[in-house]
Amino acid sequence: MTGQAPALYGLLGYPLGHTLSPAMHQAALAAAGLPGTYLALPVPSERLAGAMAGVRAWRLPGLNVTIPHKQAVLPYLDGLTPEAAAVGAVNTLFWDGDRLLGDNTDVAGFASALGERPAGPAVLLGAGGAARAVLRVLMREPGPVHVLARRVEAARALRAEFGAEGASAALGSPEAPALLGTAALVVNATPVGLDGAASPLSAGEVAALPAGVRVMDLIYNPDETPLMGLARARGLLAENGLEMLVQQGAAAFSRWTGQAAPVSEMRRAAREALG
Ligand code: NAP
Repeated sequence: MTGQAPALYGLLGYPLGHTLSPAMHQAALAAAGLPGTYLALPVPSERLAGAMAGVRAWRLPGLNVTIPHKQAVLPYLDGLTPEAAAVGAVNTLFWDGDRLLGDNTDVAGFASALGERPAGPAVLLGAGGAARAVLRVLMREPGPVHVLARRVEAARALRAEFGAEGASAALGSPEAPALLGTAALVVNATPVGLDGAASPLSAGEVAALPAGVRVMDLIYNPDETPLMGLARARGLLAENGLEMLVQQGAAAFSRWTGQAAPVSEMRRAAREALG
């Protein structure tokens, strides 16, 4: 190819609604002194093939991918990072020479937000894409991971696939409080709480948690989710998913540019875009 690739970055998904990624990545490019524009690029499923042909034709340097394309994009790629292969879905596309690769930076994002895994059992709520990224990180350190999902068979299948020690149960089932009663860490990887009203755990289940437990909700809007509200009312440590979002963006930025990401600028821009 002759000529220079346009410094166009973006997010492929449909519909895109309000996304923090353009603000976060535009701020990162500016802080790093790099040229480039990051756009929301809404692409319905029937036009994904065309969009991917465009990514290659223009050799676009960096894309994020979100619902509904995180798995659909796999056939258009030349390879996957071990994290993307383990999760079975990608959220970041980058070039390695002439190969277009897929990464799942939710893994790095959750790992950075978590820091050290608290010693003891973890309880993971949900068994979807984000839960897979979380489990990949939790499995790096010893300790059981109990999975609670609305379909117990999904919880069982996830634990079996990852070889996780622990137990599986349905959310809200009579087995749940005993598992929650041993937890050192609880991670909500369901969308329950996005409406600002529902919690994936009842007040009674939150009451079963031990005093020293850390509660992480992957939801970042609202700022305090209903689960966090219940946990904090008990005096427990609870945090939302904004740091994971910022850190997954930082990992993507590093993939694209080969540079350390200006994380504090990205965090500031994400908070500002949230309003
Ligand atoms: P997903 O692949 O659709 O998985 C959602 C999981 O939650 C599935 O196990 C699903 O169960 C379960 N679920 C859905 N609705 C439920 C309900 N009403 N009650 C109980 N369980 C329910 O979605 P995802 O990509 O994993 O995302 C999950 C959440 O994490 C979303 O809120 C997303 O915004 C958040 N997230 C945050 C970050 C971040 O950077 N902070 C990154 C990724 C995701 P079924 O299989 O039975 O449907």
